[in-house]
Amino acid sequence: MCGIVGYIGARDCTEVLMDGLEKLEYRGYDSAGIAVFENDIIKTVKTRGKLEEMQKKLQTEGKPTGHCGIGHTRWATHGEPSDINSHPHSNGRVTIVHNGIIENYIQLKEFLTEKGYVFTSQTDSEVVACLLDYYYAERDPLRAIIETVKELEGSYALGIIFRDFPDRVYATRKESPLIVGIGQGEYFIGSDIPAFLKYTKNYVLLGDDEIVCMNGQDISYFDVHGLPVEKEVSVAEWDVEQAQKCGYPHYMLKEIHEQPEVVRKMLNSAVKDGVPDFSEIGLTDDFMRDVKRIFVVACGTAMYAGMVGRYAIERLARVPVTVEVASEFRYMNPIVGEGDLVIVVSQSGETADTKASLELSKALGAKTLAIVNVKYSAIARGADMFIHTPAGPEIAVASTKAYTVQITALYLIAFRIAFARGTIDEEELKRLTAQLGNAPKAIKDIINNKDECQFIASQLVNAENLFFIGRGFDYALSLEGSLKLKEITYIHSEAYAAGELKHGTISLIEDKIPVITVATQSEVLAKTISNMEEVKSRGAFIIAICRRGTVFSPESVDIRLELDTVLEDMLIPLPTAAALQLIAYYTSVLRGIDPDKPRNLAKSVTTE
Ligand code: GLU
Repeated sequence: MCGIVGYIGARDCTEVLMDGLEKLEYRGYDSAGIAVFENDIIKTVKTRGKLEEMQKKLQTEGKPTGHCGIGHTRWATHGEPSDINSHPHSNGRVTIVHNGIIENYIQLKEFLTEKGYVFTSQTDSEVVACLLDYYYAERDPLRAIIETVKELEGSYALGIIFRDFPDRVYATRKESPLIVGIGQGEYFIGSDIPAFLKYTKNYVLLGDDEIVCMNGQDISYFDVHGLPVEKEVSVAEWDVEQAQKCGYPHYMLKEIHEQPEVVRKMLNSAVKDGVPDFSEIGLTDDFMRDVKRIFVVACGTAMYAGMVGRYAIERLARVPVTVEVASEFRYMNPIVGEGDLVIVVSQSGETADTKASLELSKALGAKTLAIVNVKYSAIARGADMFIHTPAGPEIAVASTKAYTVQITALYLIAFRIAFARGTIDEEELKRLTAQLGNAPKAIKDIINNKDECQFIASQLVNAENLFFIGRGFDYALSLEGSLKLKEITYIHSEAYAAGELKHGTISLIEDKIPVITVATQSEVLAKTISNMEEVKSRGAFIIAICRRGTVFSPESVDIRLELDTVLEDMLIPLPTAAALQLIAYYTSVLRGIDPDKPRNLAKSVTTE
């Protein structure tokens, strides 16, 4: 959600900032802007709209030429997307970009108004610029930042420049991501590594309320009291290639294609001697044997991955698992405590509600396990145990490869918990792990069959409403398939447990309405088929996703997508997910939408 960049060095600052913002586009935004020192004067260009609008504005207003500046893509939380509300915001001597929400901005605004400050935007962020200016009385930037952050409540990542210091960029953060890039005689800030990956792989993570000051020659870090702190430089594992489209028309399609490989990577990293082994991260058999209850807490797609995990863990290990929406969990005074395991799942590792749920669970005495794709993220660092999902950078807003790798990790956990509790023996543990080893090929087969998904998409392109139905694992997949489709096609879609439809929603079924029936689970196949027939007889257009050779009564299915796989039922969600992703992707493209950047959505939801 929102992107921050900053640069100081010998390069053309405007180029570096614009390039960095482009790399952060995946995070979702509605406006953009930059502020660059041009001969000691700060020149700001900002606009509502996408980076193309910014480029146009840079043409008409003139590109700032300089070597020090900050930039921003805004995902509006306070005040509509408009030129004025776009960042950077400036007040007198200070110019800032802000990601996050200042929760006490109204009180601060009142205080500053009394002091004579005049506000031009509707944002919460503008108070930060004014407050910094207020505390800048002694012309000491560090002191001004320290005093300011003491007053701020909420979440923030801030890039700051001071009019009197045209050779410095300051930054600080709390609960919103911000990373420092260390080049040769040049420094960067970015909300995520791809913002500067092209120039350097070396990065430093800022802790909450730590402050960085970078000038062309030097970089220094301070704690909240202004005392110097030593920071460790890490080296990013990602390369530029991974963060680019590599010839695919969209990141989403590229990321769908990467799934066989990243699922294999997940297996390689967690499987030792043919069985999953998490002892290194502290997830030992002893702990898993004694765990009383498991909660999977997450948002959106990651939560639906949790549902697949729930079915697998309960089926194999017979431990009760509850899947909770993080934004609910954190405020429901949850009954969680010692003896419980809370698994938090997040692609970015910065999801605000998931992070708060993690902190709450820890405070209540539960053990926490994070399944996260970004190693350096707050959630990865905050949990008692951490499993890294090696999906690499996921740029498209709609999650694909991160989801399938999360599911893979949850299967491996399910297998190991079951073994630890004695509900399966070692032989079965090995067999299941080997079975999961077939998943990359099963996903690949679906991808090779993408023409069929494209054909299905051509049948959905004009739909206004549609349904997904399924039971058990197929229900979890229906929820995710429906979400994916909604996210990137803007078609209204609902997912229902197949048996639940007739308890109300079936009244919405009318002639030709598409119903995607996920029917891969043999135990409940007959039941799902009955539910499918119920909607077919009310005029629905049925698209069935099933194993090859599944027998349906004549004329009950309009189109079928058959999965050809040796995977057993419990593991078939992996290729099924790929099929549903491809259907959503092609429908989006056929409807003329950019699937990588769906409207209103942000990739990493760092606000509540
Ligand atoms: N709350 C700020 C605003 O609405 C920043 C939002 C963001 O993170 O982009 O302007």
